Parts: sequence; C-alpha cells; structure tokens
Amino acid sequence: MSGEETFLIVGAGLAGAKLAEELRARDFPGRILLFGAEEHLPYERPPLSKDYFAGRKRLADFTVHGGDWYRDHRVELQLGTTVTALDPAAHRVTLPDGSTQRYDKLALATGSTPRTLPLPGADAAGVHVLRTVEDSDALLAAVHGETDHAGWLAIIGAGWIGMEIAANARGRGAGVVLVESAREPLLGSLGEEMGSVFADLHRAHGVDLRTNTSVREIVAYDGRASGIRFGDDSVVPADAVLVAVGARPNVDLARDAGLAVDDGVLVDASMRTSDPDIVAVGDIASAEHPLLGTRVRVEHWANALNQPAVAAATMLGREATYDRLPYFFTDQYELGMEYLGLAPPDARVITRGDVSGLEFLAFWLDDERRVRAGMNVDIWDAGDDIRALVTSGRPVDPDRLADPAVPLSDVAP
Ligand SMILES: Cc1cc2nc3c(=O)[nH]c(=O)nc-3n(C[C@H](O)[C@H](O)[C@H](O)COP(=O)(O)OP(=O)(O)OC[C@H]3O[C@@H](n4cnc5c(N)ncnc54)[C@H](O)[C@@H]3O)c2cc1C
Repeated sequence: MSGEETFLIVGAGLAGAKLAEELRARDFPGRILLFGAEEHLPYERPPLSKDYFAGRKRLADFTVHGGDWYRDHRVELQLGTTVTALDPAAHRVTLPDGSTQRYDKLALATGSTPRTLPLPGADAAGVHVLRTVEDSDALLAAVHGETDHAGWLAIIGAGWIGMEIAANARGRGAGVVLVESAREPLLGSLGEEMGSVFADLHRAHGVDLRTNTSVREIVAYDGRASGIRFGDDSVVPADAVLVAVGARPNVDLARDAGLAVDDGVLVDASMRTSDPDIVAVGDIASAEHPLLGTRVRVEHWANALNQPAVAAATMLGREATYDRLPYFFTDQYELGMEYLGLAPPDARVITRGDVSGLEFLAFWLDDERRVRAGMNVDIWDAGDDIRALVTSGRPVDPDRLADPAVPLSDVAP
C-alpha cells in the first residue's frame, strides 16, 4: 500500500476518532483527515446526560483522545468543518469554503441529530435538546440557574435520555415533570413490564411522570418557555423544557451522493456501503448482522466504539465482519443496567431475581423460547452468561431461566 493514499473520515465523534485510531493500529501509512462539524476534540456522549450533567466529570475526562494523540499519530483533525457534499465518482468531498478534498477511501461517521416537535412554542428560548456538550451546558444552566436555586424542568419523552436527565436533575434538586405519550416509558425498547419498572423508579424519586399524555403546546412568555400545555388544556409551569423524543441519523450526505440508504446508510457486515470505497460506522450504519440474520441500526455507544475496527480493516482491503451483539447501558439514580441483544418489545419477558428490589435479570424470549436479549439490573457478573444464551440460539425452559437457583448455563428444557 502506498504512503501517498488519503483516507477521509467525515464525522469526528466516537466512531470517527476510533476509526482513525484503528487505521493507525493497522499500520496504515498514508494521510488520514478527520472532519468534524463540532469545535471540540472528539468526545463520548453518554456522560452528557449522566456524570457531566451531574457535575462529576469534565469534558476532558471523556474526549476519545487528548489533542497530542492526533498530532503524534498524524491524524489531520479539521474541527468546525462540515463536509457539505460527497461525489463518489470523483472521489471528492466538498468543504464549507467550496474547496474540495480528494480521497482514496472514505468513512462516514456522521452520527445523529435530535428530533424536534412541531409544537407551538417549540422555538422559544429555554426549549432544549441534548446531543452536544453545549446542549448539556445550556440545559444545566437553565435547570440550575446562576443562583444555585434549582428550578422546574419539563421533559417531553421518557426515553433513555429523558429519563437520565430526569434522574440527574432530581439529583441536583430540580423539580421534574416527565411526559410520555405511550402507556409506559421505554415501551419501544423494553416493552410494558420492564418499562413500568423504570416508571416506578422515577416516581419513587419524586418525578411527576405522566404517561399516555401528550403535550399540545410549549407555553412561552416574552419568547421564553414558561411551561407546557397538555391536550386537556392544563398547564404545568417550567423554567426549561427538554425535548427528548429520539434522534434521526445524519444520512443526507450519503443519500445526496446516491449511496443506498434506508433509515440509515446500508452497509454489509464489513461496514462497506453500496460504494466499495466508502464505509459507514456508528449511529448511521444500518448493517447486515451475520448472527442475527437481519439489518441492525442502533444508536449505541458500543457500536461507535467497536464497528471502526472492522471498517478500518475493510478500508485496508482486509477481511473482517462485525458480529457483536447490540449492547446498551444506562445509569439512573441508584440503578445501573446493561442490555445485550435485540428483541421486539412485545416478546415474552422472563425475570429472575428481585425485581422490586432492582436486582434482577430479564430475558426476552421468542416464540421458540430462544433468548433474544437479556438485561442485567445491578447484577454485574451475568454478562457472559447472557451473551452465551443469546448467541447459542438454543431454546430454554422459562421456569428454569426464572429460577435463581438454576445456573444460567443449565437452563435448557
Ligand atoms: C446525551 C446522550 C446520552 C447517551 N447515552 C448513551 C448510553 O448510556 N449508552 C449508549 O449505548 N449510548 C448512549 N448514547 C448514544 C451514543 O452516544 C451514540 O450512539 C454515539 O455517540 C454515536 O457515535 P457516532 O460517532 O456514530 O456519532 P456522534 O457521536 O453523533 O458523532 C458524529 C459527529 O459527526 C459530526 N458530523 C455530522 N455531519 C457532519 C459533516 N457533514 N461533516 C463533518 N462532521 C459531521 C457531528 O457534528 C458529530 O460531532 C447517548 C447519546 C446522547 C446524546
């Protein structure tokens, strides 16, 4: 391979920075240019709703690498630079000043953008979303104010980010009203039974959680959000409003360039897009999963961390496939959990352990009684067993699975 080759990475989040690292780890000798729209060194996002928002970490604690690393590894980091167009036929991208940059191989790692709501008042000051470090700072300032007096926060959407912010805002002394249009929080990812565990947790910590409820308007006074109005016309006052209704993957660059795209950029199990010289990783990648036999696109930290090793190998013309199970984690109050696998939320749930005491495992079974996904809540030595159960694809006996006295390695019928 010639030292003159130029590899571009578009998107300087976790996936983009890891990809640069994985290329150098595989001795790629050529140029690496990493373009990032944000002004910061690439950083991880989970702390933005957890330890950073809670004041326990600083940004420098969760950048992917320090600034010296990029210099030492000859990664040309171009921050504050949004790539505006991609021309796969010419092997070029366009930069904001209209100049172009040629590439031999390209990686797309453009991540996601928070969804917004088309509500009256949604553009008022004091209405927040959460994706960047600036978003987290702004939300914290709005909740906490300058006087150390914690105010009221209204959160629209009881998904992961909404619930984590609810927990940490409560921890900072703020009042929280958390509004969810579905019957339970997290219905789409965990289903009703496990969603209710999280609902109870938040109510026990004083969150005013309202399910089956939709917001009709963000009430604004003098251009500033002052509360939310529900469908029945009642109003809850708030000092700030967080809209936490999910994210959409940033696929416009790929779509406009003619790459195959559905709700993400379509890639094979080697992270290769419909163009052989372009890979995609992280939140935007809709990847064929050899083990699950389906396409998987998940907005998980672990994907952004681990897919780049495979993408780097592919860019270097080597064989590699990504077959890790989806993995997700959350921390809320005293609860820590990990979820491994992928199951439809209406799959049968089997629990094992003390659910009300928040120390348990949960498993999602398909119609053939195979474990599709498992979750450990404050039990930290079960990860390998859960992985083995999901990976094996073998049927289990639900009663044995539910019985903590039966080893997880021995739950076959
Ligand atoms: C508040 C919060 C908490 C989270 N908590 C968890 C958690 O607990 N567990 C978990 O598994 N996951 C969590 N996630 C999800 C996880 O952070 C994402 O899956 C991960 O950040 C995806 O990484 P990425 O590199 O694909 O995208 P991103 O981190 O979004 O990075 C993409 C970067 O590309 C830039 N970019 C976009 N377009 C262009 C362009 N055209 N040119 C140049 N740059 C561009 C963007 O500005 C961004 O900086 C959380 C996310 C958030 C926001």
